[in-house]
Amino acid sequence: LTRLYGPLTALANVRVDVMTALVSFERVFEVLDLPPMISEKPNPRPVPTGAVSVEFDSVRFAYPAADKVSLASLEEVAVLDQRGGEEVLHGVSFVAEPGKMIALVGSSGAGKSTIASLVPRLYDVDSGAVRLSGVDVRDLSFDALRDTVGVVTQDGHLFHDTIRANLAYAAPDATDADIMSALRQARLGKLIDALPDGLETVVGERGYRLSGGERQRLTIARLLLAQPRVVILDEATAHLDSESEVAVQEALATALEGRTAIVIAHRLSTIRAADQILVVEAGQIVERGSHDELLTRDGRYADLYRTQFAEQDAVA
Ligand code: ADP
Ligand code: MG
Repeated sequence: LTRLYGPLTALANVRVDVMTALVSFERVFEVLDLPPMISEKPNPRPVPTGAVSVEFDSVRFAYPAADKVSLASLEEVAVLDQRGGEEVLHGVSFVAEPGKMIALVGSSGAGKSTIASLVPRLYDVDSGAVRLSGVDVRDLSFDALRDTVGVVTQDGHLFHDTIRANLAYAAPDATDADIMSALRQARLGKLIDALPDGLETVVGERGYRLSGGERQRLTIARLLLAQPRVVILDEATAHLDSESEVAVQEALATALEGRTAIVIAHRLSTIRAADQILVVEAGQIVERGSHDELLTRDGRYADLYRTQFAEQDAVA
């Protein structure tokens, strides 16, 4: 379970803070003596084979209210968000077809990260359903979910451990050859070759300092190794230097090939490449379509484009 929830920091601040503090989900709730907010069914189902569709069906969701979860005397884990309780998704429906890419756009606080966090089931919906190839995520085993849904966050969360360990937890059976191949595809081969300790180099806090672009590419290598059929990507807002930007984009294109992807998009190039753009506003999808369709409609997307993305056209 730790493997599922470990790397999802940026998507679910609250839970993951608790998690990193206490190592595992089970332990958190052992200590708190409360039932976990999500649990596995007694006879969970697998995800059907083949490329996976992701369906949101009239999803309503509120973050758990802090006062509903008694944290007893555990002050070190008292990180529950005070914002919980109010509904933040008000009936979200869409389908990401197998192998296609959906881009979520919209202003900050609109609900994009919340939508993304419901796919790996960091939280359960209050009504409606999230389905993978027709199967409700609540009916899937945690193993199936972890193997099917890969998450790449903005700054590439790394553990204070070796490069090998940081990659291998996503694919315990991977050989060093597999790991090196993923690193090369993620444009990190040269860097690893140049490090005196190679795969044994310890990274993360107080370890070898990787640049932002290198950290991102390491999480992309992790994705390439794990080969999840669904990828949730929170695209970086921060601008990398242009060399690593190109490297990250190339590595990502490889990693997303043939997979169903939901991307919280901040780059015009990603948005253009998406099969469908969803404009999220105040917890609802207010527009959907391709870049050209939405520009022609001259509505919310066209506004966003003019205020946020048009400048990227000018630069390119
Ligand atoms: P976006 O990713 O589009 O910027 P979010 O999904 O992060 O938007 O946020 C949607 C709404 O949910 C906001 O009102 C935000 O304040 C609230 N929210 C986000 N994360 C939490 C949380 N962990 N607990 C309570 N409320 C949250
Ligand atoms: Mg967000």
